[in-house]
Amino acid sequence: MIENFINNYEYYKNISLKKYNTYRLDVMCDYLVYPKNIEELIELIKYLKENNINYLILGNGSNVILARPSFDVVIKLDRLNKIKINNNIVVAEAGVSLINLANVCMNNNLNGLSFAGGIPGLVGASTAMNAGAYKEDMASIIKEIKVITPNLDIVTMTSDELNFTYRNSYLKEHKDYICVEVTFELEHMGKDKIKEVMDNRRQRRISSQPLDMPSAGSVFRNPDGLSAGKLIEDIGLKGYTIGGAQISEKHANFIVNNGNATYEDIISLINYIKEKIKDNYNINLILEQEIIR
Ligand SMILES: Cc1cc2nc3c(=O)[nH]c(=O)nc-3n(C[C@H](O)[C@H](O)[C@H](O)COP(=O)(O)OP(=O)(O)OC[C@H]3O[C@@H](n4cnc5c(N)ncnc54)[C@H](O)[C@@H]3O)c2cc1C
Repeated sequence: MIENFINNYEYYKNISLKKYNTYRLDVMCDYLVYPKNIEELIELIKYLKENNINYLILGNGSNVILARPSFDVVIKLDRLNKIKINNNIVVAEAGVSLINLANVCMNNNLNGLSFAGGIPGLVGASTAMNAGAYKEDMASIIKEIKVITPNLDIVTMTSDELNFTYRNSYLKEHKDYICVEVTFELEHMGKDKIKEVMDNRRQRRISSQPLDMPSAGSVFRNPDGLSAGKLIEDIGLKGYTIGGAQISEKHANFIVNNGNATYEDIISLINYIKEKIKDNYNINLILEQEIIR
């Protein structure tokens, strides 16, 4: 019985995941578990594997479409949240908020994470996704990471071994590897200079993205040399709605939840957009968000 096992863990039973995904999808989870350190995480995974219990590692839920009415076990790494700074080397655990880390680095006169000041993910997931913006990404500053392998060993992988490409990495292709710690190599730069860049970018996001509505950021990748948002806007789809899911009036590459969207609404809207883009431009749009079934 899982409850006997997780008795010593921080966990919540029969809980809605609405607060834990940025689309605010109201799907359920039997057990939401917060390991307090890497050892607890390994023990938990070992137990779940031995007992064939399905689990999902969730970061901040800002790049996923939770496409099931209910999940068995969801593991949150938020308690793995230590940051260590030594000269220009920063080591952050997987559960650190990327926005928080960007600010901490700025306050320590370290540059490299200013692209991440508006990316609402956790460090571990953002490494797996190779999150990025303004032509910079996690790959450009990561030196090495610690992962838990499918055999439950902790090993170090260098940036080269992670095969980073655009919004992709070895971890994204190998879902049974869990990133637990990331080492960044940053450059010294005055705080004021970094702050100016970050403030500027924040203003641009506020003016161009629907940050007041639940979403999971860009829905599609930009096709080579083109903007997915512009393609969608140019065929008049801004504001198009299916159920509670709507193509944002502010940015056509965002789908927003108008309050009562289901994952079926979001997936139907994604399929509708893909179909229209194929019909109009003969382009196959590629999803940037991840559907978790
Ligand atoms: C308003 C808004 C703006 C955004 N802007 C950007 C942007 O500019 N650039 C960009 O790249 N993204 C952007 N995003 C998308 C998203 O924030 C990023 O992809 C982010 O890195 C996802 O992190 P997360 O913690 O939310 O991951 P989640 O969505 O929780 O998880 C993503 C995937 O990672 C897996 N995962 C979770 N933790 C780990 C781990 N420790 N090890 C291995 N795999 C793990 C999960 O199982 C899942 O498959 C935006 C989203 C929003 C809502």
